[in-house]
Amino acid sequence: MVKELIYQGKAKSVYSSDHQDEVVIEYRDDATAFNGVKKASLVDKGRVNNLFNAYIMQKLEEAGVKTHFVKILSDNESLMKKLKMIPVECVVRNYAAGGICKRLGIEKGMKFVEPIFEFFLKDDALGDPMINTSHILAFNWASESEIAFMRKTTFKVNEVLSKLFDDSGLLLVDYKLEFGRFHDEILLGDEFSPDGCRLWDRKTREVFDKDRFRQDLGDVIGHYKEVARRIGLAL
Ligand code: 5GP
Repeated sequence: MVKELIYQGKAKSVYSSDHQDEVVIEYRDDATAFNGVKKASLVDKGRVNNLFNAYIMQKLEEAGVKTHFVKILSDNESLMKKLKMIPVECVVRNYAAGGICKRLGIEKGMKFVEPIFEFFLKDDALGDPMINTSHILAFNWASESEIAFMRKTTFKVNEVLSKLFDDSGLLLVDYKLEFGRFHDEILLGDEFSPDGCRLWDRKTREVFDKDRFRQDLGDVIGHYKEVARRIGLAL
């Protein structure tokens, strides 16, 4: 197999595979925060996120959510369907944390009456600004039906994963998803790992996600591994 680098992201690299419809995604040990401003290398992060993502994508597939995941290739590589990414981030929030607290001046930790859905433009240089469906349509980033599909699927993921984490004593506070086009379908792309969501212990509210890195709370990967253990994934 001739592996050619197609794209290098902040924590993952995308390589060509033997099949033109598939790519190899390599999970590196690199960690970044604040749109790439804070950087570090965390031992074992690539392996943990690769295996964590594979486990979650398989759970989502079992629940009827179509994803780009094909199979694990090695400790830090998986085979994925090659998507044409839609340049928006879909965020669902169940509890107040992070961006929404700053934006709306609300107290961290409050549970919303119903989950909140938000779109952001995927653009580090602009700091991923919040956008709405009107922007997405006006700039032709996605169609009306694609917007509806991404929204519906992001909420479906919330149902499936809130239960999975809740059963393990964890609160799914919020998370970010990205989607891409594959022939005539839209598939869930990117990754689901503690890098792109917030997870708190249900009783103590201890932080188990990337906020440990953002806020220098320590033992980032130890906490990712503990999440994996609690949801039934031996790492
Ligand atoms: P916030 O808007 O509060 O910063 O983020 C909301 C949720 O989406 C958090 O779980 C956060 O980790 C995730 N998220 C939003 N944007 C990004 C991003 O660009 N990269 C990653 N890894 N996660 C993001």
